[in-house]
Amino acid sequence: MSESTLEALGGGAAPPAQFGHDALVVCDNLVRIFQSGSVEVQALQGLDLLVDEGEMVAVVGASGSGKSTLLAVLSGMDAPTAGKVRVGRWDLMAMHASDRVAYRRTMVGFVWQQTSRNLLPYLTSRQNVALPMTGTPRRQRAARAGDLLDLVGVGHLADRQPHEMSGGEQQRVAIATALANEPQLLLADEPTGELDTTTAQEVFDALRTANREAGTTVVVVTHDQAVSGQVERTVAIRDGRTSSEVLRRHTGGDATHEEYAVMDRAGRVQVPKEYRDALALTRRVRLALEGDHVSVRPDGSAR
Ligand code: ADP
Ligand code: MG
Repeated sequence: MSESTLEALGGGAAPPAQFGHDALVVCDNLVRIFQSGSVEVQALQGLDLLVDEGEMVAVVGASGSGKSTLLAVLSGMDAPTAGKVRVGRWDLMAMHASDRVAYRRTMVGFVWQQTSRNLLPYLTSRQNVALPMTGTPRRQRAARAGDLLDLVGVGHLADRQPHEMSGGEQQRVAIATALANEPQLLLADEPTGELDTTTAQEVFDALRTANREAGTTVVVVTHDQAVSGQVERTVAIRDGRTSSEVLRRHTGGDATHEEYAVMDRAGRVQVPKEYRDALALTRRVRLALEGDHVSVRPDGSAR
């Protein structure tokens, strides 16, 4: 019996829809294990993530939680050990080497933390942005590069080489370069990690401009928890899984933040450490269905 048949039986009368069928990015139970010698590191441990077309999502999490591994998988540079991952029409799990090249050239743009990794040092900004433009006629490339530099606020630096610009300016040129082939998805791994707060803000604004004006879907990894105030959705990764999400909603003129726990498809939810500590929730807890909610109580508590 196929999986979709099983889902149809389990799901009652509802038509069988695949997990995240209408999302741009679908990570379903993603696992990535690194083997170094006899040591096995599980960088991703069953990560679920959906990103809709047009969204800008921030990914936060402690060092070593699997953020870069996730972005490497989404960029097509690394292949997961198990699970499903799809971006648009591309199934990244089943992709051949030639597809991988096409995917990276047409579907995704990437910005790294290290400014020096994003741009070629002996080219000007305009030349850097024009370089990956395979889909644009040669005569139009310089003009289009200029437009992209304008979009992210560094049009006046078109003729400078990277060493003649600040770190923040280089990162904005890097964003323009990543947008050169009009990717549907822009990935940035701690693009502001080497920058001071003010400059980081300018780079973050450039990402938001790419999202709003160019309509590019953006997934940005950041160590800065404060960014959740600036994006609609922040996803927290803990131990290789998505553990919680903060959604920013506008009600009237005020933005409110609501924090959600993430439940995976098997029904697993991570209870935050503060909650576990406060009620001494340990290995066994009492779960009860309470009409409109589910309660979790310590083992041994009165019913
Ligand atoms: P983050 O970006 O959140 O700091 P990473 O995704 O870089 O985390 O790493 C997650 C875990 O996987 C870490 O324990 C890291 O040491 C391990 N890891 C990442 N890449 C490799 C690799 N190529 N070989 C072995 N272990 C790796
Ligand atoms: Mg990292």
